[in-house]
Amino acid sequence: MARRKLVAGNWKMNGNRAALAELVLIAEAARAAPGVDVSIALPATLIAPAVALVPGFAFGGEDVHAAESGAHTGCLSASMLAEAGASFTIVGHSERRADQGETSQDAWAKASAAHRHGLGVILCVGETDAERDAGRAARVVQAQIEKSVPDLATGDWLTIAYEPRWAIGTGRTPTLDEIGEVHAIARAKLRTLVGDAADGIRILYGGSVTGANAAAILETEDVDGALVGGASLTAAKFVPIIEAA
Ligand code: PGA
Repeated sequence: MARRKLVAGNWKMNGNRAALAELVLIAEAARAAPGVDVSIALPATLIAPAVALVPGFAFGGEDVHAAESGAHTGCLSASMLAEAGASFTIVGHSERRADQGETSQDAWAKASAAHRHGLGVILCVGETDAERDAGRAARVVQAQIEKSVPDLATGDWLTIAYEPRWAIGTGRTPTLDEIGEVHAIARAKLRTLVGDAADGIRILYGGSVTGANAAAILETEDVDGALVGGASLTAAKFVPIIEAA
């Protein structure tokens, strides 16, 4: 099945209102590439101003709480993100797994809450370097998918991002064969969970994607796009990745 490529940015805890000017340039490049979907996850404080500046562009959150509301100081619910103008959110990012101790069960609950409020979800999975060295990358990714993909998920709202933790922000990437292998395993796992709907679910690669390596990664079998951190912060670095797709 032909899946449209998606190039998604993730600003993490970077950016301020002055940096929003980059989004105008990025949105222009996205309009010039109608065959590719482009979106950017932003710090929550920037979502509403970004939507005001570039209406119609897909901005998202970087995390969401699974609960509807309540005593969760510092957290944001899916309805809050939606009200701010987000159209999607990332869940299960490895930095949240490492820094906040989030589990695949948490990612499941967050993805389910986001979907209930009409948000798309980019669900991140990926092994550590110790797990890869031990030959367990595939099993770790399979287990994360099994525990975190909600029942009845479809590609209309769910995207998977395979992000080996050791490749994030390090300049190191797996070989194209290693990327293709994990993506194929991830799709086979999805098929056991959601059947033929697995064909419609995009699987992005993330971890040190740049303008220099994007074309080769995006041409790899079963890679439906990229989740880009550092290189999404400026149009100069992000636009070449959109163009490569
Ligand atoms: P990076 O981050 O592109 O800076 O490696 C990717 C991510 O964490 O989504």
